[in-house]
Formats: sequence, structure tokens, C-alpha cells
Amino acid sequence: MITEIAKAAQIIGRSENLAVFTGAGISAESGIPVFRGEGGLWEQYNPEILEINYFHSHPLVSWNAIKKLFYDFLKGAKPNAAHFALAELETIGIATTIITQNIDNFHQLAGSSNVIEFHGTTKNLICTKCHRMVAATETILSDLPPKCEHCHSLLKPDFIFFGEGIPQKAFTESSEAAANCDVMLVIGTSGEVMPASLIPIEAKRHGATIIEINPDKNVFASGKNDIFICAKAGEALLQIIELIKTEKS
Ligand code: NAD
Ligand code: ZN
Repeated sequence: MITEIAKAAQIIGRSENLAVFTGAGISAESGIPVFRGEGGLWEQYNPEILEINYFHSHPLVSWNAIKKLFYDFLKGAKPNAAHFALAELETIGIATTIITQNIDNFHQLAGSSNVIEFHGTTKNLICTKCHRMVAATETILSDLPPKCEHCHSLLKPDFIFFGEGIPQKAFTESSEAAANCDVMLVIGTSGEVMPASLIPIEAKRHGATIIEINPDKNVFASGKNDIFICAKAGEALLQIIELIKTEKS
């Protein structure tokens, strides 16, 4: 494994346009549960709570679960070594675009400045009728389901549910990043969520080197990745960043 890490460090350290594609696994070491895989949320909950039609017909049931799953878990959680290592790549001069499927805002909190939120964010709520946006404060989430102050309609988190399309801006920017990068680092994703899982495939099609980090060997990019590091994101990225810094100094 150490040789895979050394190879990855060399390629990333010399990249001109790095794209990083992250999934729930990168936040697992922050204590945020993933959806799939060991200990994943779908072992305990029915994914229908995140289906858009179910949400509209059962807003309270959905919101009770959403609050527990996303807002209560996030309250005390912080970015981890993996998020900080990616932010550090930028500070040492490696042009980095992060495309994240996550909705936890951790890349930005860790200091990354170029982040595309493919699935939106938990930070804000959006009115299902007048589309006004409000911050997801504790006060607003204390009375479920939350309602719009302006038109009293149902508020929904500003992340996409099953059955909704990807925000156009995020989609366009991600496609461009995938087409333009010379290296794509894929971290902590099962690749089961479409169309997000097409992003590394698009990067590969345009000639990028694909490096994947996941502790589970059965990852989606197997066969498509050029380097596979079978490890937790934090452990692998700490070693990678140290090697890059040594090579650059
Ligand atoms: P997923 O839950 O389908 O898969 C998680 C992947 O992470 C698995 O392949 C697992 O092996 C891997 N993993 C577990 N621990 C890891 C670690 N320490 N380091 C690296 N990898 C690790 O996640 P997904 O592919 O991102 O798709 C799920 C969807 O759920 C996404 O759309 C995302 O928006 C959403 N989600 C987000 C969060 C979050 O914002 N933190 C949390 C749960 C789900
Ligand atoms: Zn409204």
C-alpha cells in the first residue's frame, strides 16, 4: 500500500489541475454516518424519507428523520484530517477543485475555496412554494415541519432529494472540472448515486489519471481507477500531503 501512496503523492504533487470527488466516506472520520456500507444509515432508516414525493405527502415523518440524521449529527461535528489535508493542497500551490456529494459544508470549513456542492447543502432551507432561502438555524428547526415566514408553505433543506434533478450550475461546473483536470482523486464514495458517479468516468474519458481512496475493496471505480489506496481517507491523505511537502521542499 505504501507504494500506492507514494505513487499517488508524486502524481498529485506534479498535477496542474487537480479535481477531487468526495462522498460520505470522507466525513465518516468526523462521526457522520455514511448511507451505504458498514454502519450505514440505510441499515436503520428507509430511504423513502428522502424521496421528494414522500416528503410532500409526509412532511413531518420526513422532517423528524432528516433533523436527526443530518442536523443533530452535524451539530457537534467538525471537519477531519482528510478535509484539512485537501485544503492544505491549495495552500502549497496545487490548483484544486473539489466536487463533493456531501452536504455537510466541511470542505469549506476546513479552508478549501473552490468547492462545488453537487447535491446542495444542509446550511440553508428553501421554501417549496416561493423559493425564498433561509439559514437552517436551531430556532427554525425547533418546530417541525418548518414553514416559510413569508408564505407559510413547507420548507425543505437546500439539498436534493431522490427524484430531484442536480442544480444546473453545479452540474455544469462539475462537468467542466472533470473534463479539464489532469488528475482526479476519488474519495469515500460507493458510486451508487447517479449522475454523480459519472464524474470520475467523465474525467477518465478526457484522459485524467484516477486515484481512488476507500477502505472497501469493492469500490465502484475498480477497473477505471489507475491507483487504488485501500485505506481510510484521513490516514491516506495525511501520508500523501507529507510526501508532497517533502518533495516540494
Ligand atoms: P455512500 O454512503 O453510498 O458510500 C460511502 C462510501 O464511503 C463507501 O464506499 C465506504 O466504503 C466509504 N468509506 C467509509 N468510511 C470511509 C473512510 N473513513 N474513508 C474513506 N472512505 C470511507 O456515500 P456516497 O457515495 O457519497 O453517496 C451517498 C449520498 O449520501 C451522497 O449523495 C451524499 O450527498 C449523501 N450523504 C452525505 C453525507 C455528508 O454530507 N456527510 C453523509 C451521508 C450521506
Ligand atoms: Zn415561501
